[in-house]
Amino acid sequence: MKQVLVTGGMGFIGSHTVVSLMEAGFRPVIFDNLCNSSEDVLEGIARITGEKPLFIKGDVTSAADLKALFTGHNIDAVIHFAALKAVGESSEKPLEYYHNNIGGLICLLEAMQEHGVRNVVFSSSATVYGSAAHMPVDEDTPLPPAMSPYGSTKQMGERILFDASIFRSICLRYFNPIGAHPSGHIGELPLGVPNNLVPYVTQAAAGLRKSLTIFGEDYQTPDGTAVRDYLHVMDLAEAHVAALNRLQQVQDRPHWEVFNLGTGKPISVKTLVETFEQVNGVLVPRVMGPRRQGDVPELWANPGRAKEVLGWNAEHSLAAMLRDAWNWQQKL
Ligand code: NAD
Ligand code: UDP
Repeated sequence: MKQVLVTGGMGFIGSHTVVSLMEAGFRPVIFDNLCNSSEDVLEGIARITGEKPLFIKGDVTSAADLKALFTGHNIDAVIHFAALKAVGESSEKPLEYYHNNIGGLICLLEAMQEHGVRNVVFSSSATVYGSAAHMPVDEDTPLPPAMSPYGSTKQMGERILFDASIFRSICLRYFNPIGAHPSGHIGELPLGVPNNLVPYVTQAAAGLRKSLTIFGEDYQTPDGTAVRDYLHVMDLAEAHVAALNRLQQVQDRPHWEVFNLGTGKPISVKTLVETFEQVNGVLVPRVMGPRRQGDVPELWANPGRAKEVLGWNAEHSLAAMLRDAWNWQQKL
């Protein structure tokens, strides 16, 4: 299994995974419509790996684009990152989200089926757990109705892969990926005002935003702020290499597995911001604000299955994640 199609490979997690794939001896083919990324990412990857990966501009909702891609390249496996990912926006534009995330997945699987490609790794999310009753969550935790159209596309995506049993599939439930490649050549490029905590923190520290608003200080958590499981994007990238290796081992079909990817360590918003300040020696101007609608008080992973089956665990500390995030922000 050498040539790997990486849909959405110009994006935040995809670009870091492309680096890990190249370093592990895979040949990634990036397929991206650049709706949330830029072609400059290729330069960043080349500066790290010494080689520009193959990039094809195209859309996963286009059967014609996919046909041209699969006809022109001998693909052994697919990692499917391409999706729209803003939770709030998904409630404003549900059809766009279902079209892109579900329509795109189906279109991709149809093209894979037609060209005899059977191995797929799917980007799922911890958001599928919603407001789970017990922490940490493991993969057997029952999934409640999704809290947003975005969350729904991840639950449905997993289910579609479960039903489409001609494929060997692995669904990876990411918790909160943050940070950047330690070189600072690639990182997260949020367009406009960031929705996510860490890009907002780095922009506030850099003076690009007046102040960070901490959403809620009245949660039933040790310091009153919400708790999440943050992991370094390079650890997450490595998990995709482990997932491909796993698919190579299991030649049986059907095969469907799901893994939590997190550190298993609960971190509050307040702790994250204070750690950022300590590690980087900069201040993050901040104010307290009301809770953000749809946020759960706490969510962190039991990552035991990924360790046991994939041999993967998150190695970077919170300090390393925040140092690399700041390094990237300063180079922008
Ligand atoms: P991103 O927006 O940085 O990357 C997604 C990439 O997909 C972008 O380069 C975009 O241009 C591309 N894309 C979107 N729709 C496309 C289409 N129809 N055809 C071709 N390309 C398309 O996002 P990311 O943070 O790297 O997320 C990658 C995946 O991980 C997504 O599926 C996301 O839902 C999932 N995920 C992300 C997080 C997170 O916090 N970043 C958490 C859980 C799950
Ligand atoms: N958060 C915050 N201020 C911000 C952005 C996020 O306080 O400007 C909080 C948010 O309420 C949540 C945590 O930071 O508790 C992580 O939010 P993010 O959007 O990064 O990830 P989520 O867990 O929502 O997917």
